[in-house]
Amino acid sequence: MRCPCQITPDLLSNSNAENLENDKSYLDCCKPFHEGRLPKTAEQLMRSRYSAFVMVNTEYIINTTLPAQQPLLDKNAIAAWAKDTDWSGLEIINHKPIGKRHAQVEFKAYFKNDNGLQAHHELSSFVLVKNSNQNAQWYFLDPTVDFKITQKQPCSCGSGEKFKRCCGQFLP
Ligand code: ZN
Ligand code: ZN
Repeated sequence: MRCPCQITPDLLSNSNAENLENDKSYLDCCKPFHEGRLPKTAEQLMRSRYSAFVMVNTEYIINTTLPAQQPLLDKNAIAAWAKDTDWSGLEIINHKPIGKRHAQVEFKAYFKNDNGLQAHHELSSFVLVKNSNQNAQWYFLDPTVDFKITQKQPCSCGSGEKFKRCCGQFLP
């Protein structure tokens, strides 16, 4: 099976169908991450989160969000959104490391609805911090979570920096 994150809409729409066989399989792409290997880059994390949405792996989506935000996520809403969306492909537009521990990934996640092919065009932010096993791990910074933190408090990612100098740059 080709990895969901390696499918782009143009692959599906024309005679490139045979390419579907050759390219990166789920086994060699996002599966190891879904089974516990840590993505080395924010782009890998972004891809594996997209594949998790396609496969309705809600647990992975939650576990790869900043730990301080995880309790604020609505598991059922994420599952329903993942399931009800007719996912059609992913296109990574740009991957930009920022400073020591942040990165942004610009992407288009394609889906179909009654009006045809649509895209979520987004710029997502990620932070690299120590997880509970003391390993450096990339996490998604969810801008929709309502964080109760002031700009001068230590950042919730655990970096030791003030929020405004750390993840606060990437969260509303
Ligand atoms: Zn993948
Ligand atoms: Zn931070």
